[in-house]
Amino acid sequence: MGRRDIKLSVVIPLYNEENNLDLLYSELKESLKDFEYEIIFVDDGSQDNSFEILKKFSESDSKVKIIQLAKNFGQSAAFQAGFDKASYDTIITLDADLQNDPMDIEKMVDHLVEKNLDMVVGWRKKRKDPFFSKKLPSFFANLFISKFLKLQIHDTGCSLKVFRKEILKDLYLYGQMHRFIPYLLFSKGYKISEIPVKHRKRYRGKTKYGFARIIKVLLDMITVKFLNDFSTNPIYMIGGLSVFSFISGILSFILLILMKIFYQMDMTGNPLLLISIFLFLISLQLLMIGLLSEILVRTYYESTKKSVYRIKNFIENDKK
Ligand code: UDP
Ligand code: MG
Repeated sequence: MGRRDIKLSVVIPLYNEENNLDLLYSELKESLKDFEYEIIFVDDGSQDNSFEILKKFSESDSKVKIIQLAKNFGQSAAFQAGFDKASYDTIITLDADLQNDPMDIEKMVDHLVEKNLDMVVGWRKKRKDPFFSKKLPSFFANLFISKFLKLQIHDTGCSLKVFRKEILKDLYLYGQMHRFIPYLLFSKGYKISEIPVKHRKRYRGKTKYGFARIIKVLLDMITVKFLNDFSTNPIYMIGGLSVFSFISGILSFILLILMKIFYQMDMTGNPLLLISIFLFLISLQLLMIGLLSEILVRTYYESTKKSVYRIKNFIENDKK
């Protein structure tokens, strides 16, 4: 199959990236010249000049489409908005900040086609990001994903991805779930592979994520693991914890009786045991409430397919 037969929809979420767009656009055009393609820029509520710059591209280039979201909905929602408008069968995603190199697209597409995969994920082997705020937390997140979620991919957080459009029917993104795309698909049995890609420093504009992301990703990982293992059978986890607490209660009660019989200790005068049981019950209840609400939220979004974004403008220049 020649390259010309492969049609690509390139989806790029961006938020305040005015200084990166010109170069990004020209690099993209260069890297896509062998393909039939469209570029869908999703302006995720930028407050700078990004939208005006994109409009200029679309005026002279019918391959450029712009989705302007009504406010900053976050990267996951922006991806989803772009996917919903994609018209071709192969989809590419990448960041707008030039940290990904569009020249890698070609070999990723080739890999997807040759190996007949559902998704190819970029692996930022030599990642050019700060150590403590990005590389270190990513290392642990990827360790967790490979150990506990069993997905053998080095760098699930790389935005540069190539995949077949069909997978989208099994993907619905909101919150921060774009970080788990490979895992979400892997858990549905899709074929995923990775290849090393170039990574560059961010030269212009600022990163949109600070330390708060680390906490969010940590909580997301717990949720994803929970949903993966227990969403269809929450009783395995909740019931398991309940059995565990029941047994602990019995053990502590036996201990209490033994202390009474052999050491003549006053049962009501032994507060430590009660305090620990009390604290344990509270944490148990909090955990249950957290997980139950997680299920409720996901039921709400997934069964109703409720939109996580609202589009203000959709520009499509049709004069071919
Ligand atoms: N981005 C977005 N909406 C947001 C935050 C980020 O569309 O709310 C875009 C951003 O413009 C960039 C990409 O997502 O194109 C990745 O963001 P960033 O480079 O800040 O992340 P980092 O590389 O620092 O992890
Ligand atoms: Mg970046």
